[in-house]
Amino acid sequence: VQAVFRSNLSHLLELMGSGKESLIFMKKRTKRLTAQWAMAAQRLARKLGGVQRDQKQILVHIGFLTEESGDVFSPRVLKGGPLGEMVQWADILATLYVLGHGLRVTVSLKELQSNLGVPPGRGSCPLTTPLPFDLVYTDYHGLQQMKQHMGLSFKKYRCRIRVIDTFGTEPAYNHEEYATLHGYRTNWGYWNLNPKQFMTMFPHTPDNSFMGFVSEELSETEKQLVIGGKASNMAVVYGKEASVWKGKEKFLGILNKYMEIHGTVYYESQRPPEVPAFVKNHGLLPQPEFQQLLRKAKLFIGFGFPYEGPAPLEAIANGCVFLQSRFSPPHSSLNHEFFRGKPTSREVFSQHPYAENFIGKPHVWTVDYNNSEEFEAAIKAIMRTQVDPYLPYEYTCEGMLERIHAYIQHQDFCTAPGPAPPGAPAPQSPFILAPNATHLEWARNTSLAPGAWPPAHSLRAWLAAAGRACTDACLDHGLICEPSFFPFLNSQDAFQKLQVPCDSTESEMNHLYPAFAQPGRECFLQKEPLLFSCAGSSTKYQRLCPCRDFRKGQVALCRDCL
Ligand code: UDP
Repeated sequence: VQAVFRSNLSHLLELMGSGKESLIFMKKRTKRLTAQWAMAAQRLARKLGGVQRDQKQILVHIGFLTEESGDVFSPRVLKGGPLGEMVQWADILATLYVLGHGLRVTVSLKELQSNLGVPPGRGSCPLTTPLPFDLVYTDYHGLQQMKQHMGLSFKKYRCRIRVIDTFGTEPAYNHEEYATLHGYRTNWGYWNLNPKQFMTMFPHTPDNSFMGFVSEELSETEKQLVIGGKASNMAVVYGKEASVWKGKEKFLGILNKYMEIHGTVYYESQRPPEVPAFVKNHGLLPQPEFQQLLRKAKLFIGFGFPYEGPAPLEAIANGCVFLQSRFSPPHSSLNHEFFRGKPTSREVFSQHPYAENFIGKPHVWTVDYNNSEEFEAAIKAIMRTQVDPYLPYEYTCEGMLERIHAYIQHQDFCTAPGPAPPGAPAPQSPFILAPNATHLEWARNTSLAPGAWPPAHSLRAWLAAAGRACTDACLDHGLICEPSFFPFLNSQDAFQKLQVPCDSTESEMNHLYPAFAQPGRECFLQKEPLLFSCAGSSTKYQRLCPCRDFRKGQVALCRDCL
């Protein structure tokens, strides 16, 4: 059956169920964005032309909203608790529905079991019942529940699962044996999934797939109204919870010299003591009213927490400048409670690295808050700067539809990959050494790796400097690391073509391989495909890195990826 774009979302709203505050929040959002989704669908349909799209049967099981996982979020929706996850799930549902797929939504264990065909009253199903879905989107909580209740069929069907995982899971933490042996075990990791099955909120870890969410897009008329209606001395503080404001008196004092400060901090009856009296606190606002506030404001200011939420993108889309603190040293699972136990080694250099690295000035200012003069100078400069509303394409409805369409069409983790096992000699080398001898390219006319996605000819491979992760090595060349190309590179042939002087070649399990070690002139190949990793570095190794190009404003897709 062909998938047909949908523009009427009323049936989706029914599928989403009711009752919980979290579902009410999500449904309001979906309803409000209906016109944007419909328009985006039209534009994408035109862009894709008559391309064949199969209709998939999809289960969306939102594990963190189930009572069985404790559902700590729903009761806090109206009390300043996190909303980013709900924004994202609402947008995922809308995307899958608008793309025209068959959809089931579950937010309880009972519904999950009945959709999986597990007989009621039975703890789990020991038989391998066929899974009636082509794809299942869930989260870590849901994954645990599925494992418990699917019996043997979990292993068989786990390649169809996609895990929504805000901060990402690196390969070293995902591989059970390796994680256990090398100290990468966490509360979340070691599911032995293909790392691309984990889908993140921001494109911060190329080892995972970037799922994202959307921010409302202004029409040209709205943009002009917003630009004309800005109050140049109005600031909104990022953070719905009073704790975010704690200990920030000094910055608030400086800011207060120049601007009128607004907040949207939840409170019960009295002003929270963390929020100074000179701040105009609106209390937690409904999403559309929060956006209206952003439209008037000049500055959206972050004090270091929450990390990487949707609000800064909304602020920038509504014409605000986002001012945030640089973290030095960077925050990570090694030094910060929030990241402790998360299956990633990523170092976070500011409150919102995406805003810093993908958007930047004039929309985003990242400064050292320990330096009061720098902080004050930034505020003064921002008040004089004129910025237009800006929303990166990948965070528009069309961008999200385009990206998820491409994943559904092309990502297949159920069929074993094509390329030869490590060490096996290729009949004819597919590599071409670039004219300046710095990197490898993939011959367009070779028949090796047919049907690879991203297509193999977008591969550009470098030998990184010692101590450099592939994530960074690729960025150095204006490219992005593409882990699905590692298997192509994992060969003596690649080292040879790059003129790396290997005295010996070993094949071992190590998330930094393939790599070259200078001292003994040893080359190392990767033995375990699940451990191919863009992240990770060691001064001992020069890593062999697979990079690719990307579309401007849609980093998840290469130029020839659609
Ligand atoms: N938001 C809201 N009312 C407010 C402040 C924020 O509805 O008074 C919404 C905002 O539009 C955003 C969402 O809360 O989409 C989550 O934003 P945030 O970046 O704070 O992430 P979180 O920490 O909640 O996940």
